[in-house]
Amino acid sequence: MQINEKTQVAIIGAGPTGVELAVALTQADIPFLLFDAGQIGQTITWWPKHTRFFSTSERIAIPGLPLTVFDQQHPTNDDYLAYLRSVVQQFGIQAHAYQPVIEVKPLSGGDFLLITERKGIRQHYRAAFVVLATGGMAEPRLLNIPGEDLPHVSHFLNDPHVYFHQELLVVGGRNSAVEYALRCWRAGAKVTLSYHKSDFPKTSIKPALLQDIETVVREGNMRFLPGTVPVEITMQDVLLATTDELGNPLAGEIEQLPFDFVLLCTGYQADLTLFRQLGVDLLGAEQSPRFDPETMESNVPGVFVLGTVAGGTQSKFMHFIETSHAHVPKILTTIQQRLAGSSGVIR
Ligand SMILES: Cc1cc2nc3c(=O)[nH]c(=O)nc-3n(C[C@H](O)[C@H](O)[C@H](O)COP(=O)(O)OP(=O)(O)OC[C@H]3O[C@@H](n4cnc5c(N)ncnc54)[C@H](O)[C@@H]3O)c2cc1C
Repeated sequence: MQINEKTQVAIIGAGPTGVELAVALTQADIPFLLFDAGQIGQTITWWPKHTRFFSTSERIAIPGLPLTVFDQQHPTNDDYLAYLRSVVQQFGIQAHAYQPVIEVKPLSGGDFLLITERKGIRQHYRAAFVVLATGGMAEPRLLNIPGEDLPHVSHFLNDPHVYFHQELLVVGGRNSAVEYALRCWRAGAKVTLSYHKSDFPKTSIKPALLQDIETVVREGNMRFLPGTVPVEITMQDVLLATTDELGNPLAGEIEQLPFDFVLLCTGYQADLTLFRQLGVDLLGAEQSPRFDPETMESNVPGVFVLGTVAGGTQSKFMHFIETSHAHVPKILTTIQQRLAGSSGVIR
């Protein structure tokens, strides 16, 4: 088997945290390769147009590299992607975009083999350390109901404009669902919001969003159906079941309502395939990887966990960009110490 390239560190995932580590490794003069299945910042590319971060600019900027927003407001996804591109250019980082790592495994002697695929061509890389920065939002969490794959049903909001003057069912009740429902309503959609619990999760919704949605619902501008969940979607209608106190559908209590479009804001889940391939332990319902919080090294020596994937598929968000900055110096220091203790070159 021919190895295309050898390096000290392979970073898998060029989201905010993978790029931040790439900057730190560049500054420390440690060779690395940075892979992404899509473009740098891929997760942020699919947010709805003109979405503002909940976080403020100084909290998501890479330490020492200010993110300046012309209007001093929370940055938009476009602001942040432009920032990420300029950081990558400034530090001369060569990201391997659109090159997913499809397999990673330990080699005898302590290094790792990574296999990538781009446009049908497989490439093989060897690295002394692997950093998994693959994020927690790889795919939507499906309801697994009939009709979920129909063309008028989506798990992603791109542009609220497409729902102008349309009957839209938004499903969900957390921050994204509430924000998307409000934006679509302000873009002229006739919005119904279905949430499986009996009320909004008030302690976990941003206060400004909660106040906004409660006002819009109270004034009769949006229909809110708490305690309901879709159990089937057809081209014309949605069958909504009443739920019990845990949010599960009750048999027989079903209402059939007509909608033009359905937007399912039921959250996202991590793809932990590479963790499983490497033998990283995945703990609990959230499947959070086992790692040492002092070093971010997983239970597999030489494999590190970086960024929001440290929480697996988070049901309640504890890991954000701002909490992930601390991961970078821990990983960097550990790798520097290992390199100082060895011959300093890849085996
Ligand atoms: C609407 C919305 C608003 C948000 N607002 C905020 C906010 O205000 N503040 C905040 O901190 N967070 C926010 N988030 C969450 C935010 O997206 C994450 O915090 C951030 O993107 C996490 O960065 P990350 O580097 O950990 O992971 P990601 O950005 O998800 O990056 C992971 C990268 O890994 C790549 N990847 C995955 N598997 C492979 C593979 N096998 N091979 C190669 N590459 C791979 C992916 O393509 C992706 O680019 C929001 C999310 C949404 C949807």
